Amino acid sequence: MHGMTKREFQITDEAKIRQILDSAKVLHLGLAVDNEPYVVPMNYGYRLEEGKLTLYLHSAVQGKKLEMIRANSRVFFEMDCDRMPFEGKVPCQYGLVYSSIMGRGTACIVEDVEEKKQAMSLLMKTQTGKDFSFEDRLVSIVSVIRIDVTEYTAKHRPLPEKLR
Ligand SMILES: Cc1cc2nc3c(=O)[nH]c(=O)nc-3n(C[C@H](O)[C@H](O)[C@H](O)COP(=O)(O)OP(=O)(O)OC[C@H]3O[C@@H](n4cnc5c(N)ncnc54)[C@H](O)[C@@H]3O)c2cc1C
Repeated sequence: MHGMTKREFQITDEAKIRQILDSAKVLHLGLAVDNEPYVVPMNYGYRLEEGKLTLYLHSAVQGKKLEMIRANSRVFFEMDCDRMPFEGKVPCQYGLVYSSIMGRGTACIVEDVEEKKQAMSLLMKTQTGKDFSFEDRLVSIVSVIRIDVTEYTAKHRPLPEKLR
C-alpha cells in the first residue's frame, strides 16, 4: 500500500488499533467490478490475532454488494471514530480530530454454519460489547462475509498543539 504522507500521524500500537476497531462501529466497504466502484456502509465484527486482522459483516442473502463480491473478491475498507471538529482564525486552520483505519483484503461469503455463528457472535461483541450465541436457524437467514485483511494502516489526527 502507498505510504502515509503524514507519517507522524500513523498508529502502530495494537492497543490503540483495537480502540479504533471497538469504537468505529461502521465500515465503508469499497468494491469494484468492470471499472465501476461501489461503496457501502456496514456494521462489522473483528478478530485481531498475532497482527492478523479478520473482519466479519452480515447482510441479507441478496443484493448488489454480494453480487460484486462474487465477481471480484478484492475489497478496500475504511472506518473512523473520535471525530471532533476544531476552529481556527482562518478557514484553513479549521479541521477535524479523527482516528481511522484503512486497508485492503479478500472477501468471501461464509457457508460453514459454525463459522457463521462465531462471526455473528464477534459482530455482536464488537457492536454492543456483549456476548451472544446464535442458533443454526438464525444464521441460515443471513449472509456472512469474511474479509481476510492483507494490509492496513491506522491514523490519528490529533488536536493541533496550539489548541491543546
Ligand atoms: C450506518 C449503516 C450501517 C449499516 N449496516 C449494515 C449491515 O451491517 N449490513 C447490511 O447488510 N447493511 C447495512 N447497512 C445498509 C447498507 O448500507 C445497504 O443499504 C444494504 O446492505 C444493501 O446493500 P446492497 O449492496 O445489497 O444494495 P441493494 O439493496 O442491492 O441496492 C442497490 C442500490 O441501492 C442503493 N443503496 C444501497 N444501499 C444504500 C444506502 N445505504 N444508502 C443509499 N442508497 C443505497 C444504491 O444506489 C445501490 O446501487 C447499513 C447502512 C448504514 C447507513
